[in-house]
Amino acid sequence: MAQKLLGTWDLGARDRPAYQLVVNWRPCAMCYGAVLWSGVRSLVIAGHGPELEALTGFDEGPIHPQWDHELRRRGIEVVSNVQTAQALEVFREFADSGAVVYNGRGGNPGTPTG
Ligand SMILES: [Zn+2]
Repeated sequence: MAQKLLGTWDLGARDRPAYQLVVNWRPCAMCYGAVLWSGVRSLVIAGHGPELEALTGFDEGPIHPQWDHELRRRGIEVVSNVQTAQALEVFREFADSGAVVYNGRGGNPGTPTG
């Protein structure tokens, strides 16, 4: 949405301010790539542990074990543990609401094969 609003695909261009993305938890597999290539200079999250998936049933997908290191290595600052308790409360409220959990396999994260 920021790219569309600003009319550019490169949020990290030299003539741009250092954009920061603030989201509720560690990026999922899809969003991780978007963060990596968007050009944002920093990522602020409430946490990065297993709590989100445990509380909500979301499948965040496979994430590189050194995901935050890989972002920092590319000049993207990672700030974690911002308002963690508040985020966890929102996840609990979501789980209690009975809302649909977005998961292409109906909540089954799958089993390893081979
Ligand atoms: Zn995502």
